[in-house]
Amino acid sequence: MRLKNCLSRHLKTLYKKEGVMIVISPKEQISLIADDIRTKYSTSFPVNVIEIANNLGLKVYTYNEKNPNISGMLNANKKEIFINENDLPLRQKFSIAHEIGHWVLDYKSIAPQKDIFEISYRNVISKQELKEVRANHFAACLIMPEEETKKAWALNNYDIDDTAKYLSVSRSALTFRLDNLGLLNE
Ligand SMILES: [Zn+2]
Repeated sequence: MRLKNCLSRHLKTLYKKEGVMIVISPKEQISLIADDIRTKYSTSFPVNVIEIANNLGLKVYTYNEKNPNISGMLNANKKEIFINENDLPLRQKFSIAHEIGHWVLDYKSIAPQKDIFEISYRNVISKQELKEVRANHFAACLIMPEEETKKAWALNNYDIDDTAKYLSVSRSALTFRLDNLGLLNE
């Protein structure tokens, strides 16, 4: 399901910007939350997701996950993120950003009192779908901020591989993000 179709079905939210209440979509809201988290918790660019996780009080571990459909999981109670070590490094980076998204969006950064493992499947399959779409959009916004991505895209002569290298993201994540920003239509 395409992101805009999925998220636009949900109610728009009031958001206070420079003292004025404006109506924004959930997609825009997630983008603003991601910008806020990156501004507060990241000191480098390309974005260091482990630094952000640690600054949010989350520990990040890799483990040998045999199921190739599982990219990672979050134990919100223990504030631990587990990432499939068999994935390529840039895929792991996106997965960490995705799990940070669950922590920020689904738990409002407050841990539950018991262990709940949120397993993140690579292919979205169930009623978890909206949560997964939200976490994916958060991850994309966190590691590929709109302005920096647009600048990098022009700076690298609209070449996907060069731009991906520049932003230190995977080719597939960048392609999805560029499409989402409406930059692939020309
Ligand atoms: Zn997930």
